[in-house]
Amino acid sequence: RAKEKGRNSYQFFAADMNARAYEELLMSKALRDALNERQFVLHYQPSVSLQDYRITGVEALVRWVHPEQGLIPPSAFVPLAERNGLIGELGQWVFSEACRQAAEWRSMGLPPLRVAVNVSARQFNRRRLVAELSEVIAKSGMVAADLHLEITESMMMENPKRALTTLREVAEMGIDIAVDDFGTGHSSLSYLKDFPIHFLKIDRSFVMGLPEDEDALAIVRAIVAMAHNLNLKVIAEGVETAAQRDLLAAIGCDEAQGYFFSRPRRADDVIKLLRNGKPLP
Ligand code: C2E
Ligand code: MG
Ligand code: MG
Ligand code: MG
Repeated sequence: RAKEKGRNSYQFFAADMNARAYEELLMSKALRDALNERQFVLHYQPSVSLQDYRITGVEALVRWVHPEQGLIPPSAFVPLAERNGLIGELGQWVFSEACRQAAEWRSMGLPPLRVAVNVSARQFNRRRLVAELSEVIAKSGMVAADLHLEITESMMMENPKRALTTLREVAEMGIDIAVDDFGTGHSSLSYLKDFPIHFLKIDRSFVMGLPEDEDALAIVRAIVAMAHNLNLKVIAEGVETAAQRDLLAAIGCDEAQGYFFSRPRRADDVIKLLRNGKPLP
């Protein structure tokens, strides 16, 4: 296509490709340095029970604390880390930091708190995942049952046999598994009955349309009904309004997470919430 438009646009195209490749290279190097210098922090977003609006757990969400650019969101570097192979090391850091934090919260005499950690595709496919997990848990002194892993449908479908083996080993350790962004992957539902899964997290894109969008509502209702028939719990992601909260509670969704209750916050802010012990809005 570029050729049709003549040589000039081809050159622009090539220059653009080079610029992007160069930028990716620079970012990769910066990320490498950031890992060496531990320029990362975990923020934690609470989830609440839709029965009593008390905190059931938190989801660990990684941020890059860039010396010049400040906090960089995971969308700007997790995919890059997947491409350049740094995700293994980054994921290891996330695991150990989340487990260390979970153990610390336990030691403060706070009520047991589930800590959910996101696992990326490449990290999930590492042969050493289970060994690394048990190492990190043992070292941190945390209770394995406090840990949850969030994985996506596509991660299970890429190599279902292997995923099943991995998930069985993880579940054996007492770690619960949540399917993140549920409803957005184009995969068969059959894995839900074969895989050791404990939670479905309804993707924000469905919650966003509530309460007006009747199609979104129909889908959310169907997910909740199916999950309950399979003995799974449901967490709604991205709840931003009281109307969404009330509707989700009315249709029997178990838990919710979203800016309406709390944005992701620093660990010391989480302690304040837990100490306070009050239900969230
Ligand atoms: P996710 O696991 O689906 O996490 C939920 C994302 O939605 C978070 O964005 C959270 O801040 C945001 N969110 C929560 N409530 C609301 C809401 O009410 N409205 C809106 N608009 N957004 C809300 P964040 O922290 O930027 O993370 C984005 C994604 O990056 C995560 O999606 C997850 O897939 C990935 N990620 C985050 N931390 C990690 C990590 O440690 N490891 C890996 N592999 N991936 C991570
Ligand atoms: Mg998640
Ligand atoms: Mg999600
Ligand atoms: Mg999502």
